[in-house]
Amino acid sequence: MPNVETVTGPVDASELGETLIHEHLMSRDEAVLIQFPQMGTMRGDPVAHVTSEDAENVAAEFMAAAVERGVKTVVEPSCMYLGRDVRLMKRVSEKTGIQIVPCTGIYTYDHLPVSLITRDADQIAELFVHDIEQGIQGTDVKAAFIKCAADEPGVTENVEKVHRAAARASLKTGRPIMAHSRPASDTAPRQIEIFVEEGVDPSKVQIAHCGDSPDADYVESIIEKGVWAGLDRYGIEMYQPFEQRLAVHLELLERGYADRVFVSADSCATIDWFPAKVGEQMAGAGLIKDWTIKIVHDKVLPALREGGMTEEQEHTMLHENPVSWLTG
Ligand SMILES: [Zn+2]
Repeated sequence: MPNVETVTGPVDASELGETLIHEHLMSRDEAVLIQFPQMGTMRGDPVAHVTSEDAENVAAEFMAAAVERGVKTVVEPSCMYLGRDVRLMKRVSEKTGIQIVPCTGIYTYDHLPVSLITRDADQIAELFVHDIEQGIQGTDVKAAFIKCAADEPGVTENVEKVHRAAARASLKTGRPIMAHSRPASDTAPRQIEIFVEEGVDPSKVQIAHCGDSPDADYVESIIEKGVWAGLDRYGIEMYQPFEQRLAVHLELLERGYADRVFVSADSCATIDWFPAKVGEQMAGAGLIKDWTIKIVHDKVLPALREGGMTEEQEHTMLHENPVSWLTG
């Protein structure tokens, strides 16, 4: 089998094993982290504020919990604006034994720094290609895939430019793309259209967060464009309650799409989006529930099995689909 890049070097794709396709070691804005390190972040569990040094330990704790549950590989979609730090990822990988698959890309709903507003899609693509061919952040760790995003503001001019850059880097390197989407704003069709306009084969594209839709027909309509669909936010109740996610997931399995979907939680060991107090309140109000990397094995898979998922479907989603998407 072909190789897949991890933070500790390339591995044969047959070595990926059980793989969670979308989990973050941390999720934080690197500018805030550098300028206001005193602000800290909240644990994804969530409990109180942790400092940025603690964040590495919490990440290791989360990855160790995944390893205990049989996970061998975590695909880590943190890129620019999510605080990607491949040196930290490598330390956590070495400490816990988990294989971490890193990416390049830009996670923005619109904003870009001036330095990227003044550069065109080809110049941004070159940055991504550098991460894939030379290495990330001055290391020899290479990006295995390219991340981009569209959310509530839709596919704005800046977002379109990042998508075109991702597409061009994918065409140049053969690496797949993961695109954060927002079903409530129906961003995916335009995102896919841009990739296809650029010449990317839809089978290289994973549309993340399709599971935020309450409608199996909607997810099916995305899959039918030839892309992969992430059912990847179990535990984020405010975007879609667990039972609804489960119903859509089971319906898609029933319709024969086990070989086109991923199961994950989009968990963040730590996240700086909210003050710790707000995180506790959100958990108290049920807006997030059991939202950690453990939820897939502790809650989702048992519920899917209960709902009729076969062993084969489970194996397809957790073992085969990650290999197929990552290796093309
Ligand atoms: Zn994510």
